[in-house]
Amino acid sequence: MRTPRIDIDIRKIAFNTKQLKKIYGAKGIQIIGVTKLVQGNPVIASVLVDNGIEILADSRIENIIRMIKGGVQAEYLLLRTPSLSQVEEIVTYANISLNSELSILRELSKYALIRRITHKVILMLELGDLREGIMPLDIDSTVKEVLDLKGIDFIGIGSNFACYGGISPDIDKMNELSSIAIRLEKKFKITLTIISGGNSANYNWFKSSKSIGRINNLRLGESIFLGRESLCREKIPTLFTDAFTLVAEIIETKIKPSKPYGKVYKNANGQIEKFKDMGLINRGILAIGRQDVPVLGIIPRENILILGASSDHIVIDNTKSNLKVGDTIEFSLRYMALLRALNSSYITKNIII
Ligand SMILES: *Cc1c(COP(=O)(O)O)cnc(C)c1O
Repeated sequence: MRTPRIDIDIRKIAFNTKQLKKIYGAKGIQIIGVTKLVQGNPVIASVLVDNGIEILADSRIENIIRMIKGGVQAEYLLLRTPSLSQVEEIVTYANISLNSELSILRELSKYALIRRITHKVILMLELGDLREGIMPLDIDSTVKEVLDLKGIDFIGIGSNFACYGGISPDIDKMNELSSIAIRLEKKFKITLTIISGGNSANYNWFKSSKSIGRINNLRLGESIFLGRESLCREKIPTLFTDAFTLVAEIIETKIKPSKPYGKVYKNANGQIEKFKDMGLINRGILAIGRQDVPVLGIIPRENILILGASSDHIVIDNTKSNLKVGDTIEFSLRYMALLRALNSSYITKNIII
C-alpha cells in the first residue's frame, strides 16, 4: 500500500466517542464533537454522529461546508469567532457560533434577517487564558444588546482554556463561569441552555470536582481522536490513543559515519548542527519530511532514533531495528503533528472501517 500514509482506525474513534459520552454524561455534561483535527472529513464526522454526538463543531467554515455537502446530519457550530468578511457564509452554513464582538453579532443579525433564519450564539467569556472572550465586566452590556438583535438567539455562554496562556480550567474558573451564568439568567430573566466550560483540557477538573455547577457542555476534539486530556496530555482510562498511525517507508539504508565530514556550513534548516561521533552506524532514510509533518511531533513505534530531517527526508539511526529498503515504520502523532500531517496532500489518508 502507498506511503506515506495515515491509517485511521474508525472503530477506535467510535469507541472513544461512546466512552466519553458515558463518562461526561454521568454528570450531565453534553459533548460537542470538534472536527477541526480531521478537517471535517465526512466519513469520520459521521462516526461521531452515529455514536451519539448531536452537535459538530469546527473552527473553519470550509470544514463545516465539507461535512454538510458530505451528507453528515448534525447541528453545526463554528468554533473560531466569525470573521467579518465571512459572516454571510457563516449564517448560511453554521447553526451556532461562538462570539465575542458586538460588531460581528450585528452583522450576523443582519444576514440572519435577510435569510429569514435564526442564528444561535454562545458568548465567550475571557477567564484568563487570553485568547477569545468578553471581559466579565463587559458581559452585561453585551448581553443587553444581543438580546435586542433580531434573528439572533442567545443560547449560552462559554469559556476556553489551555490554548494561548496554558491556563488550567480549574474549579475556581468553572465556578466563575457558573456564577456568571446564574447571574445573567436572573438579571435578564432568560434561560441559558448551553454553559460550555471548555475543551479536552477540562477532564481533570471534571474528574476531581464533586459539583460541576451549571457547566453542562464541553467541546472535545483531542480526547475523541487521541484519547487524551490536553492539559498534561495524559491518557484517559479505557480510551484508545492509537486511532491514527503514520506509516513511512525506507528508501535508503547504509553503513555510514555518524558525523558529517568536510567544511561545515548551515544545513537545509539554516542551522549549524553539532553531531556526536559514534563511528560507523546503520543509517536509514524515510520518504517523508518537514513539509509533511513536524518531526518533533512524531514518535516511532519501533526501536529507531530520528537523527534529523530536511523538507523531504527523515534520517534515522537504524542500528537496532535493521530495517531494509521498502520496509515501513509506524509512528504515533501528537496533536499538532497529526493536524499538519492530515493537511498534507502528499500523505494518503487510509480510513480503516
Ligand atoms: C479546538 C477547540 C476546541 C477543542 O479542543 P480539544 O483540545 O481538541 O478538545 C474547543 N473549543 C474551541 C474554541 C476550540 O478552538
